[in-house]
Amino acid sequence: MTIIPKLMESGLTGRGGGGFPTGKKWGIVKKAKGDKKYIVCNGSEGEPGVFKDRYILEKYPEEVIEGIKIALKTFPNSSAYIFLNKNYYKKFKTKLKSLTKNLPITLFKKTGGYLSGEETVLLNEIQKETKYEPRLKPPYPTQSGLFNQPTLINNVETFYYIAQVAKDKYKQTRFYSISGDIPNKGVFELPISWSAQKILKETGNFPAHPFFVQTGGGAMGEVLLPKELNQKVEGAGAIIIYDKKKTDSFKLMEKWAKFFLKGNCDKCVPCREGVYRINEMVRTRKIDCKILSDLFFVMEQTSFCPLGKGATLPFKSLCNKLQLL
Ligand code: SF4
Repeated sequence: MTIIPKLMESGLTGRGGGGFPTGKKWGIVKKAKGDKKYIVCNGSEGEPGVFKDRYILEKYPEEVIEGIKIALKTFPNSSAYIFLNKNYYKKFKTKLKSLTKNLPITLFKKTGGYLSGEETVLLNEIQKETKYEPRLKPPYPTQSGLFNQPTLINNVETFYYIAQVAKDKYKQTRFYSISGDIPNKGVFELPISWSAQKILKETGNFPAHPFFVQTGGGAMGEVLLPKELNQKVEGAGAIIIYDKKKTDSFKLMEKWAKFFLKGNCDKCVPCREGVYRINEMVRTRKIDCKILSDLFFVMEQTSFCPLGKGATLPFKSLCNKLQLL
């Protein structure tokens, strides 16, 4: 069986946060018309609490490159980029350069901020555009991406698993970044079917003290209470545990707000002004519930890209679950 049907059959989904079916994405790029095709391995990982791609680049760089080589073979007349954040570039460039010698693979050092990990911003950065802002979709990168050619973008973990699928070794697992107020922090490769509760118990991280967690993304993850941990961990596979007694909820929200203030691109009003106002409210601890809920609504409905739409989730879930409003 060739790789695309194998990927479809495996059920592998993208591990960068979006969860798009990998086989389907490869199928679209395969069918897309273009003078040439591009492959981008996204290693820009930059959200607090998400560090599994770093672990994979450290432990299994050969597998990641193997996944990219499979893509190069699948899409004739293609070349690839490995897009790495500054720290990962510095740490892994020597190893990756030696593994990609004589292959049409270029290492690219990210210079932009958090948003440069968004797939269309990343393309603009590789194209050396002056503004690092998201592109309007459609067209999606699979049809018109880098230099307007069909482009396959998968992240580091996805390429690792593509190599596993090709060798019939994929066992329906994923890598979880577990951090926070727990004894056994780290990256764990575990079944995707496990609930957050089972993951915490099996890794020796289920707290004895009162706690809450944030799952999915790091800063963009949803806050869950212990009684809600019977669900799978989606998104980027992060679990952050907070000791309820030690955590100042307003300081935590201020930390998220600062992250989004620094990470957004100011292109659209709902996100630019919304994040600014949220930051102002949590910093001064003067929350107007009506204004806050209007801000959430407008940001979710009208922001241009997933950052503005998703930035409300941590604030909303924390305020609701801990009954802060
Ligand atoms: S939602 Fe935020 S990050 Fe996205 S385009 Fe608008 S300002 Fe930029």
